[in-house]
Amino acid sequence: MTVELISVGTEILLGNIVNTNASYLAEKCAGLGMSSYYQISVGDNEERLSEVLRTALSRSDVVILTGGLGPTEDDLTKEVTARVLNRRLVEDENTKSRLEEYFNDRDKKDITENNWKQTFVIEDCLVLDNSNGTAPGIISKTEEGKSVILLPGPPGEMIPMFEEAVIPYLKGLSGNVLYSRMVKICGIGESKAETMIKDLIDSQTNPTIAPYAKNGEVHLRVTALSATEEEGKSLTAPVVAELKKRFGIHIYTTEEKTTIEEALVELLTKYKLTLSTAESCSGGLLAGRIVNVSGASSVFEEGFITYSNNAKMKYLKVSQETLNNFGAVSKETAEEMAKGAAKASGSQAALSVTGIAGPEGGTDKKPVGLVYIGCFLNGRTEVRECHFKGNRQKVREYTVINAIDFLRT
Ligand code: ATP
Ligand code: MG
Repeated sequence: MTVELISVGTEILLGNIVNTNASYLAEKCAGLGMSSYYQISVGDNEERLSEVLRTALSRSDVVILTGGLGPTEDDLTKEVTARVLNRRLVEDENTKSRLEEYFNDRDKKDITENNWKQTFVIEDCLVLDNSNGTAPGIISKTEEGKSVILLPGPPGEMIPMFEEAVIPYLKGLSGNVLYSRMVKICGIGESKAETMIKDLIDSQTNPTIAPYAKNGEVHLRVTALSATEEEGKSLTAPVVAELKKRFGIHIYTTEEKTTIEEALVELLTKYKLTLSTAESCSGGLLAGRIVNVSGASSVFEEGFITYSNNAKMKYLKVSQETLNNFGAVSKETAEEMAKGAAKASGSQAALSVTGIAGPEGGTDKKPVGLVYIGCFLNGRTEVRECHFKGNRQKVREYTVINAIDFLRT
């Protein structure tokens, strides 16, 4: 089944807004096993919108349009679609009473003539309630059996509508269920991960394995097409088991929603360990990630941001000698920082980070991207030397992910 997305709105063409709807929908549709060959952005213009809609309908099974469903003059997606499909617009009683209710709760005088325009839908369509706004969504089937799906532009309205109504509709169209499992890996690069499972990827039919890199991690999505969810579960289970065998400790979760910091907090909670952090180049980013996890308070003790040499000496008792002999960005300093953080806070685990995030400050010996991560655990300290590529933000981000992964493994 092929899907084509049409993003309607002159503001997209002018670059005033980022087309996040298209990116969201494209990812979701791919996850549903639909193929996508074209994606179009078009302004709020009747003629050009008709033209792209006709073209899309001539080559794709499902066409999803977002934007231009609102009450104003420039919102014409519904009107144009009705004309292209050769259908009338009819008033929808349900939407009318929902709109009345919506405005009853607020201020009646806010209803303008324009708002009533939104109670009209394309004849013989499926109306999708909008629980976060006024304009309903619409699904129309053409005589050729193709589906045209109209969704509101604001992501806060579009996304819930898509998840509640459109996903079940699309699943029904294919008559199959797509069942997918997620395997998240850290500490192995994307190309190496792919090489490790090349044989599986090459021989896959159902389920399929799709790897993609995300912020220094590699995510593997295992997707099965099956008649029931139960069947999907049993098709994907052996593949996930095989991935676990190959990647072992590098897999931090097989849960879709679990982040690496959540996995770490879970581990620390399980082993009743407390954690402190000592950060130089990451400047609090590491502590911030950990505190993102609800429940972090039971394991996170203290976070030191010791950017200057002075601070490293004052709070973490890094010795002047170490700093003079090896420099702030060194294995030795990272080690003393981790030990110092554990000692000062009394925690059983500590992570330290010192490095050159760039873009300035690199030398031949110590280039930009050089980061030392120290890990103190129950009296022992280990230090890893890492070389990260990318700009300042990327280096800091990779540092944090790798520090979390260091302690986790
Ligand atoms: P409204 O009732 O708010 O007018 P609408 O369905 O008519 O909704 P538009 O007028 O096209 O939608 O867009 C309204 C707002 O929704 C835009 O200003 C923008 O903030 C957001 N929006 C529209 N299209 C997109 C898109 N493709 N990606 C991200 N945001 C979008
Ligand atoms: Mg609008």
